[in-house]
Amino acid sequence: MSTCKRCNKPLKTPKSIDEGYGPVCKRKHEEAEAEFLKRQVTIDEELEYQERMRA
Ligand SMILES: [Zn+2]
Repeated sequence: MSTCKRCNKPLKTPKSIDEGYGPVCKRKHEEAEAEFLKRQVTIDEELEYQERMRA
């Protein structure tokens, strides 16, 4: 039986099983990922800014 990668509860729908997360955990996972990507962009912008200041 497939379980959620985040909370280890059994997954009921084929969609959840396919995604590996329950609906709630899927949303939380995506939010965390979006937050992470947002931070990545911020770091890139910060480096670019520092690069420009050095030149
Ligand atoms: Zn879960």
